Amino acid sequence: MKFGGTSVGSSESIQQVVEIINQEQGQKIVVLSAFSGVTNLLVQLNNQYQEGNQDVLQTLQQLESRCFEVVNPLFQTATFLQVAQNFVRLKIEEIKTLVQQAYQESHTKTIIAQGEIISTHIFQFFLQEKKIESSLISALDFMVLDKNQEPDTLLISKNIQSILKKEEKSIFITQGFICRDFFGNISNLDRGGSDYSASLIGAAVSAEQIQIWTDIDGMHNNDPRYVENTFSIKEVSFDEAAELAYFGAKILHPQSLIPAKNNNIPVLLKNTFSPAQKGTLIKNSTVNDGVTSVAAKDGITAIKIKSYRMLLAYGFLKKVFEVFETYQTPIDMITTSEVAVSLTIDNNEYLSEIVENLQEFGTVEVDKNLSIVCVAGDFSQNKEGISAQVFNALKTIPIRMISYGGSNYNVSLLVKTAHKVEALNALNAQLFKHQLAALEA
Ligand code: ASP
Ligand code: MG
Repeated sequence: MKFGGTSVGSSESIQQVVEIINQEQGQKIVVLSAFSGVTNLLVQLNNQYQEGNQDVLQTLQQLESRCFEVVNPLFQTATFLQVAQNFVRLKIEEIKTLVQQAYQESHTKTIIAQGEIISTHIFQFFLQEKKIESSLISALDFMVLDKNQEPDTLLISKNIQSILKKEEKSIFITQGFICRDFFGNISNLDRGGSDYSASLIGAAVSAEQIQIWTDIDGMHNNDPRYVENTFSIKEVSFDEAAELAYFGAKILHPQSLIPAKNNNIPVLLKNTFSPAQKGTLIKNSTVNDGVTSVAAKDGITAIKIKSYRMLLAYGFLKKVFEVFETYQTPIDMITTSEVAVSLTIDNNEYLSEIVENLQEFGTVEVDKNLSIVCVAGDFSQNKEGISAQVFNALKTIPIRMISYGGSNYNVSLLVKTAHKVEALNALNAQLFKHQLAALEA
């Protein structure tokens, strides 16, 4: 059971988390994020430390206040309150000692790890105060990366199994996000990585289920920030969920599904603040067919390379791709014609270098401020009419590129960002007619 930053972000929400955990039968591993806002403060603090900015001590003060904001109202007894406050003070002192030394890269990871170390300890103290038996196990003792900075799944599994064997507890508490690298130094799984931790841990112990508790009712059929009538999806396949995690659906860290999928462990997305809602179940085989959801991603740049040398030639695409490889820029969408190829990227860091290199092959046009609108679902039955419905919904919106058939799980359309909200709403009305009518009834 993984609880995100907002779920542990206040004393009320922590109490809610304890109730949720208590209601779940069987053995549980509880994976926690840092209190909301804390990792951001730690990143800010580390940047100031690195730049030699004196404001670092002020940020440290803010960090302490943020922790006390959660801790002070949480405890009922003076003894436990004291234990918890002392722990926060100790961590703040440790960070202070680090940032008063000359900058070292290794300090960065140690500093950023403190958010999860604090939240898990406070949580464990709270369970102790409530006389709920649990054991706090350190992710730094089992979550390890290999030489390529990827989680070492075999070793993680071996480590955690031997730790769990030592104690007959029904609740284990541990940190999300943090780990050790191949050399044993403190590291992490990148921002938002607690979901990934939960999935890796679930896979390592062959869990029955992985639950990700956040502050929304699971994945929605469309982006609730731009579309009024959205509803949460009951069930979705790993493949569709992976398409959506990359697009607007910020609810999940995109990599986090891989260990769960590989080990065939269902992932349940739930809302801490509304636990009665069913949430979204992600699993290998689902009952859906047809469209499940629509999402969008902004900040897309399209690049078109036009060249008559492409006509009847082979090896052209390889040369084009090599340019992107050199600049380590992933390509998202691609379409080709006999004399042109269009593709999109979402990272413009090396755009000018890329364009300069591509000009060797032909004329290059660049278009910015675009959005990819992704219609995800199970189209493996090659459902008659899905593409017709998509185009019908978007008949008034100029579409710059279309990608269909790359997987059975999505149709992607490239539009101007200025048209995104209109596109999402038009698709909502057209593709979810029946569900929306049922909701109203
Ligand atoms: N606390 C980390 C972050 O804010 C990891 C997480 O919450 O998933 O990125
Ligand atoms: Mg998160």
